Amino acid sequence: MPALLLNYVDGVSLPAAGGERIPVYNPARDTVLSEMPDTSAEVVNRAVAAAKAAQKDWAKLPAIQRAAALRKISGKIRENIDRIARVITEEQGKVYSLAQLEAAFTAEYMDYMAEWARRIEGEVITSDRAGETVLLLRQPIGVVAGILPWNFPFFLIARKLAPALVTGNTIVIKPSEETPNNASLFVELLEGLDIPKGVINFVYGSGRTTGAALSGHPDVGLVSFTGSVATGERIMAAAANNITKVNLELGGKAPAIILDDADIPKAVHNLAASRTLNSGQLCNCPERIYVQRGVADQVVSGLATALQATRYGDPLGDKEVDMGPLINRAGLDKVRGLVDSAISQGAEVVTGGKVADLGTGSYFEPTVLTNCRQNMDIMHKEIFGPVIPINVVNDLDEAIERSNDTEFGLTSSIFTQSLSSALKACNELKFGETYVNREHFEAMQGFHAGTKKSGIGGADGKHGLYEYTMTHLAYIQT
Ligand code: NAD
Repeated sequence: MPALLLNYVDGVSLPAAGGERIPVYNPARDTVLSEMPDTSAEVVNRAVAAAKAAQKDWAKLPAIQRAAALRKISGKIRENIDRIARVITEEQGKVYSLAQLEAAFTAEYMDYMAEWARRIEGEVITSDRAGETVLLLRQPIGVVAGILPWNFPFFLIARKLAPALVTGNTIVIKPSEETPNNASLFVELLEGLDIPKGVINFVYGSGRTTGAALSGHPDVGLVSFTGSVATGERIMAAAANNITKVNLELGGKAPAIILDDADIPKAVHNLAASRTLNSGQLCNCPERIYVQRGVADQVVSGLATALQATRYGDPLGDKEVDMGPLINRAGLDKVRGLVDSAISQGAEVVTGGKVADLGTGSYFEPTVLTNCRQNMDIMHKEIFGPVIPINVVNDLDEAIERSNDTEFGLTSSIFTQSLSSALKACNELKFGETYVNREHFEAMQGFHAGTKKSGIGGADGKHGLYEYTMTHLAYIQT
């Protein structure tokens, strides 16, 4: 029988008290790796209570001591990169080298957030009164609920936990039901680090049971969520009952614009690489391309050549691969549905276009589609797979207009040699990020924040750190 994961509450691993067991699969092999409990609201209550009790003393520690805890964790992560990478690859399906990168980046992120300990700053505001000092203090919010997706599961732990802890909050994390094993390994790595009990808690389970209990809990001060728009809406509704602050990192439909004056080999290389990374299952990677007419043929054939060369299969199998499977059948069905419907509406398959049957696992052939009209679903719905739909435009204005014709607003990109075209795109694209002449991927010192249905608030850098604080004004009359 597969091992049953244990919740981690108040510094103790808790055996599940009955209830449903949810299997966790290896998406390349369709085998069961482990099982996890569908943790009940009662256990979630215990986790939140433990986090609340621990928060009082945790917040009193100097920030530099809280940062030391993050550095201890990053040290442990660095000693275990290969072990962590294997667990990520097994349950999530990304290639091993990318999983190693994810683990290493997670350690780096912990250290980066630890560095903020000496830089969490308030303000002194000029008063209208004689003898008064007005201070804006930055204080922790209290208990943070971190609800995670599966696509970069280990890194997302740090993206919630590190800013929460260094600013004096405590946290209860619910990993995705697809990828809880890396979280369980994270808990194992905490052993012996002397982090006070209750500061970090993990509960496993479905969104319906465990996630809903956590996001609707009255003692949670901030729900920090990364995932789909549909779930974001539910979380907002649950949080609204208690007027709980939410930080939502949701889906995207990133446009990439390629103008006639672009360095085409560079554009093709970057877009193909971004689109096959993690099998196209990234919120920020290019989901649709607007190419100017003069270079359209060159771009289409370049992308087709690059995607045809992508080797895919079991990332832990005998052959070296560039791309693993999609996370599950539902993910595959979604990609297939969007491609089929685009083809039926007149899109042309340049390469790929169908499910790849490798015996086990969910694979979709790396695909390039042309003749994709702006009104097709494939130009509006998040694909989350290795598929590039292409639309030809006459000029930058048309490209910007079509790019902005979306309910999403996370990332975007432009390839051009013209500074004025690049700046016009940065000013007029209604997205939280625009990459110029480079791949789609954000930096930890930036601010990853979407507009429209891509979310509320953001992560990373100073602005991401301050999402985990509340302001407290002090009016001191002397
Ligand atoms: P998802 O919304 O299906 O699930 C995310 C998490 O929410 C899981 O832990 C799930 O159990 C939980 N959940 C589900 N229903 C819930 C409920 N009612 N209450 C509380 N929690 C609930 O998303 P996913 O499939 O895991 O991730 C893919 C999505 O995440 C994509 O849309 C992608 O664009 C997005 N994403 C966004 C970013 C970003 O930074 N903006 C980063 C990574 C992924």
